[in-house]
Amino acid sequence: MIEQTLLVIKPDAIKNRLVGKIITRIEEEEFTIREITVKSLTEQETLTMYEEHRGKNFFEPLLVFMRETPVVALILERKNGISHLREIVGKTDPKRAKAGTIRALYGTDTRRNVVHASDSNERFLKEVKLFF
Ligand code: AMP
Repeated sequence: MIEQTLLVIKPDAIKNRLVGKIITRIEEEEFTIREITVKSLTEQETLTMYEEHRGKNFFEPLLVFMRETPVVALILERKNGISHLREIVGKTDPKRAKAGTIRALYGTDTRRNVVHASDSNERFLKEVKLFF
């Protein structure tokens, strides 16, 4: 099934000038870019994006991190797009992510892990409203 999903390129990737490499990889994986934007998230928007993690020890630093620089958000389309993007992004902790995944290649630690990818259609529909 052709699906749309959201990729957010996080501030660590912006600072390390990894946007081009990440988009190249996305296109090599046969995703089509439907929308793309650069956006500074407000505190309220970071709260909405990550509200499921409220109360966890990494919550506040995560919100601060997501506002360190503007982020790049893309709506991507591909056959089985949601699961395929999650697969090539890799696990949250770059050290545990499969070799060759975006997080294994470019991630620093569990917070500075380069990208966010929607994990379901419901999440995509919610998250996309923050950016487009
Ligand atoms: P997720 O909702 O699974 O995408 O997780 C949200 C984001 O929170 C992750 O991509 C990380 O940037 C951050 N995160 C998740 N778990 C941790 C953790 N244990 N320590 C620090 N940051 C975390």
